[in-house]
Amino acid sequence: MVVRKPEVLRSFLEDERARLEAVIAQTDSEGVKNLGYGNHMADDATEAFEQAKELALHENAKQLLVQVTNALDRFDQGTYGSCERCKAEIDPARLEALPYATCCLHCQQRLSA
Ligand SMILES: [Zn+2]
Repeated sequence: MVVRKPEVLRSFLEDERARLEAVIAQTDSEGVKNLGYGNHMADDATEAFEQAKELALHENAKQLLVQVTNALDRFDQGTYGSCERCKAEIDPARLEALPYATCCLHCQQRLSA
């Protein structure tokens, strides 16, 4: 696996932030409320399903955006790539897979245990 340079990870995070903000804007409460007012009539079940899907997408995007913004702040503070908890260096392969990871695998496992 080729490990990307920090500036590449940073631009990935910036792109991701813009994408998430767009998702959130599209799926905010206004957007959810307006679903089903298109040209064709949606039956209630489909409409409810679509609303639930939009809402899940919205919540998911909001949570991710917090993590992405946090990672970008850490770039600014010069602490990106070190564990938030034990201050150890986060495995570059882990950052490659999860650029907004804020703690090392060891701490993450302890957190989710
Ligand atoms: Zn740690």
